[in-house]
Amino acid sequence: MRGFYQINLFHMQYENTLDFARQQDQQDPLRRYRDQFIFPQHEGESVLYFCGNSLGLQPKTVRPALLAELDQWATYGVEGHFRGDLPWMYYHKFLSQQSARLVGAQPHEVVVMNTLTVNLHLMMVSFYRPTPDRYKIVMEAGAFPSDQYAMETQVRWHGFDPADAIVEVAPRPGEDHLRTEDIVAQIEKNGDQVAVVLFGGVNYYTGQFFDLPAIAAAAHRVGAYAGFDLAHAAGNLPLELHDWNADFAVWCSYKYLNSGPGGPSGAFVHERHGNNPGLPRFAGWWGHDESERFQMRKGFKPMRGAEGWQLSNAQILSFAAHKASLEIFDAAGMAALREKSRKLTGFLEFVLDELSQEKHLFRIITPRDPDARGSQISALTDDNGKALFDYLTENGVITDWREPNVIRFAPVPLYNSFEDVWRMGQLVRQARPR
Ligand SMILES: *Cc1c(COP(=O)(O)O)cnc(C)c1O
Repeated sequence: MRGFYQINLFHMQYENTLDFARQQDQQDPLRRYRDQFIFPQHEGESVLYFCGNSLGLQPKTVRPALLAELDQWATYGVEGHFRGDLPWMYYHKFLSQQSARLVGAQPHEVVVMNTLTVNLHLMMVSFYRPTPDRYKIVMEAGAFPSDQYAMETQVRWHGFDPADAIVEVAPRPGEDHLRTEDIVAQIEKNGDQVAVVLFGGVNYYTGQFFDLPAIAAAAHRVGAYAGFDLAHAAGNLPLELHDWNADFAVWCSYKYLNSGPGGPSGAFVHERHGNNPGLPRFAGWWGHDESERFQMRKGFKPMRGAEGWQLSNAQILSFAAHKASLEIFDAAGMAALREKSRKLTGFLEFVLDELSQEKHLFRIITPRDPDARGSQISALTDDNGKALFDYLTENGVITDWREPNVIRFAPVPLYNSFEDVWRMGQLVRQARPR
């Protein structure tokens, strides 16, 4: 399946002890990155932060990056668009190389702009142009609600009925995740009625990492486009959007990418579409050919590549935070992050399994196969789940509760340690059911 990315790991033997955790931390080649982040404090100590899949921690480099842009504004006023080290006029370009490496794209295939759901709609404007014969959208059941609402309203906007036009692929009865063969079968069953296959990269609830190349190939076999929402995948897993042949993709920057609340979104448009100026889109001046952008003339002429989907000039402050964060990913490298993520997530799984055997508190619903997940373990709890979540919060462990009854733990390789995982496990062990 994803043999390409298989990292040579000896079969790890885990031990749920402080010694083991500390030994792993000492051997961790990424351990110095932890110090580059700011941890919220609880009773004078850093919290155990397992919520990087919801809002990543603040890199220490963000504040100076924001101050530099405020200085630029103070010093140059409007001329900041053309002066200084990072003239605002070109700011989106200062993010292209890093974004391209992050998602496995050519630099001209990516652009940072807007926010995630906005970009999802913009991509659907170009790629979902249904006809009475080909109008269906195939997606995962239980997708993140914003994606569900976006698809539902796209379908209605074109005059179709979501109940008919949206095909959801659900796990088999008694199973927690989707089988690739079932996704492919649904696409094939709906065949030439499928206009777009829209999948998350990683499902936010279960943490399942979908087989994106297989999904893109199946979509293309029936003549549909393949689009991916990588909100929980970008910065979490190595991606190869160009080679996987995705038609488009979008992601946000505030989860694993640590770029701050409401941070900007990235978008990918495969070059076979990006270089097609005839592809319909909603346009704004920033997507117009930059050599004539300020001539203020009629007649939209898109930039080549993903830049041709930009509407507005760059949101400099949020882009500056994103740029500071992307530099950390570039320095650490996704391959090294993935290797640590596999070990750290495996350790968390081991600790949670031990606890659930002892205390029957929860059942892991994230795939057991390390190739089918990133830095997340979701624990399905019983009726006491919310009390356990609240107990953790009161004791300085930041996790994430998702209705109806899941606690999500994200052990993030940039700033979480094996000791964090061990200490969290000790706290759960001491929990008294209330
Ligand atoms: C987090 C997330 C969103 C949030 O969308 P915004 O437009 O950034 O608020 C949307 N879709 C998915 C799949 C997400 O995980």
